[in-house]
Amino acid sequence: MPLPVVAIIGRPNVGKSAIVNRLARVQEAIVFDQPGVTRDRTYKKAYWEGRDFHVVDTGGLVFADDTEFLPLIRQQAMAALADSCAAIFVVDGMEGITEADREIAGWLHRQQVPVTLAVNKCESVKDGITQAVEFYELGWEAHPVSGIHGNGLAEVLDDVMQHFPPESEEPDPEEIRVAIVGRPNVGKSSLLNSIAGENRSIVSPISGTTRDAIDLLVERDDIHYRLVDTAGIRKKKYVEYGPEFFGINRAFKAIDRADVVLLVLDAVEGVTDQDQKLAGRILEEGRACIVVMNKWDMVEKDTYTMIQMTEEVRSRLHFTEWADVIFTSAVTGQRVEKIFDMIKPAADQHRRRVSTSVINEILEDATSWYSPPTTRGGRQGKIYYGTQVSAQPPTLALFVNNPALFGDTYRRYVERKVRESLGFKGTPIRILWRGKKVRELERGANRATRVK
Ligand code: GDP
Repeated sequence: MPLPVVAIIGRPNVGKSAIVNRLARVQEAIVFDQPGVTRDRTYKKAYWEGRDFHVVDTGGLVFADDTEFLPLIRQQAMAALADSCAAIFVVDGMEGITEADREIAGWLHRQQVPVTLAVNKCESVKDGITQAVEFYELGWEAHPVSGIHGNGLAEVLDDVMQHFPPESEEPDPEEIRVAIVGRPNVGKSSLLNSIAGENRSIVSPISGTTRDAIDLLVERDDIHYRLVDTAGIRKKKYVEYGPEFFGINRAFKAIDRADVVLLVLDAVEGVTDQDQKLAGRILEEGRACIVVMNKWDMVEKDTYTMIQMTEEVRSRLHFTEWADVIFTSAVTGQRVEKIFDMIKPAADQHRRRVSTSVINEILEDATSWYSPPTTRGGRQGKIYYGTQVSAQPPTLALFVNNPALFGDTYRRYVERKVRESLGFKGTPIRILWRGKKVRELERGANRATRVK
């Protein structure tokens, strides 16, 4: 489960980073190396009263201290806020209230995120209280703090922590988390309504791990499905964030939280660049996927249309060729329930574990049909043995004499062989090619069947 995130918000030069560093105590920022919302901001891990959390500093950019730059600050702050369960609004106690503080305060009051106001640079306890009093005008209790010395931060953190989600919100391991993603207007919310509207489904909204991410629980055949971040599908009122933000970034985050992603496409329009981008993310994140061609009722069709369209999906979304394709109409309800017949097996494959001996039989077979390549210098690639190192998605490590001896063609061949034998329908798989020292190999070989 992702850690709670606390956003630090304020105009430049009020001492946000001193506060972040104080809270985090580690000077090194965790910079997520995945594309998406988290890219331009630094998250630092912090700990207070038994809870780990992340602090995100919105001050990564340097602005002139001028209201002209408010839109930019706001943009950064908004992106950070979307992840956060609470915000610390930092102001400068030595300087007093500025126009920019008032603007930010006004905006924060409209964001429905719990705010704790920290009046920084209040080093002296006595003067600090006097300095802080002025800031009550902004509409919150003003806590005098010193980012440099650390005083006052305990009170701020106590306040912030009240807004953390309860720790018991661990996901049920038996539950399948499903994200519905796709371009605007492909019919995501219609599908959601069709799914949630069924009388036999138990529907209960539960707040997700991030503020605003409303999850829906539905049940089919005793299996619980958590539809993640349905708020991102239903809500259109967040126009302030801009379509890009709630489009692709929100979709990316939903993908990150899911086991299985329903990638919804408009069957009338076919595969677009944005669909490819989403499919790419699904693969990168290693999520199971089902391609849902929606608005099937609007497609003029003959006997071959479905086959042709499946072909198109397979070739244009070739990196998800393992995914099932289903043709639905959210309006008539056609095949909407059938999606669940695909989700369950895909989730099972995603979680599947295969024994080392089975993997090595497959490798042995693969290498005997087609030997690993040999370099001009006569060096031949050798696969010693393979084993599944993790699931979700299934990840195999193949221990070889030298990974550089295995080119893309051979790697693809092995992956194809693995898929032919093991299926893994609906899920991406990962194959890691690892070089190994001889002694470790001997040890490994005792545990596993040795291949060639
Ligand atoms: P979202 O932005 O992906 O959530 O898309 P919506 O669910 O809001 O749908 C956009 C429009 O397409 C609406 O006018 C829907 O009524 C329509 N729509 C959605 N699904 C279907 C479908 O399967 N068939 C038809 N004919 N229209 C659909």
